[in-house]
Amino acid sequence: AETISMKNVSKVYDNGHTAVQNVDLTIKEGDFVSFVGPSGCGKSTIFKMVAGLTTITEGHIHLFNKEIDSSDRDSRDLAYVFQDATLLPWLNIEKNVRMPLTFQSIKKEEQNKMVQETLELVGLKGYERAMPRELSGGMKMRVSIARALVSKPKLLLMDEPFGALDEITRQNLQEELLRIWNSQKMTVLFITHNVFESVYLSNRVAVMTASPGKVDDVIDIPLSYP
Ligand code: ADP
Ligand code: ADP
Repeated sequence: AETISMKNVSKVYDNGHTAVQNVDLTIKEGDFVSFVGPSGCGKSTIFKMVAGLTTITEGHIHLFNKEIDSSDRDSRDLAYVFQDATLLPWLNIEKNVRMPLTFQSIKKEEQNKMVQETLELVGLKGYERAMPRELSGGMKMRVSIARALVSKPKLLLMDEPFGALDEITRQNLQEELLRIWNSQKMTVLFITHNVFESVYLSNRVAVMTASPGKVDDVIDIPLSYP
């Protein structure tokens, strides 16, 4: 099955700037696709269009075989992780992770179970009562990932999530992400500046060029891990 199909997609921002031009791209269910390319080539713009955070100027995007329609963004079965773990500073870790569930009609006991399972999945068990300010950058990113995963999205969009982390922390989180991807059966879209990271993590790499932003090539990466 296809998770995303983009046909001739372009984005012109309100100021007249063409950020993305004529992109055709198909992403299958379970793919881990990295987007690499110079700053400003339109990587985030593609993610924002998929997530309904900005309009599509031209072309069509199908998400889970349904055309994206800006009017029903709430029903999208996806989660977004940004580079700077955007946690709510006045809520503890457990409440930050629970946040997306509180907007859904899920029973409290079921919420507790989902939160606990997710905290375990990302190695945050025991940190329930900690506050964001007490955590390192890597741990904050774990919380961010947990909050994205707690509602079991079929699509995870990650916009340079590890860009601000030190090398050791980055490597640890890369391993965790691969483990999670292998166990959760979800599609992952991942933005990175780091070509090595893209090849290490993904089974496909979308190479973009700037002015205007285009997807130049999509490369299949043979998986080197179980
Ligand atoms: P990347 O993620 O590859 O760095 P972006 O998608 O963020 O690229 O941006 C693509 C281009 O569009 C850049 O030139 C950027 O300055 C421009 N851009 C991004 N957002 C907006 C906006 N809201 N309005 C106008 N131009 C924008
Ligand atoms: P639309 O869906 O109507 O195209 P935009 O994404 O263009 O909405 O609007 C987002 C807002 O973010 C704009 O008001 C724009 O001024 C602002 N913005 C964000 N990033 C940039 C950027 N890189 N350059 C210019 N404006 C930006």
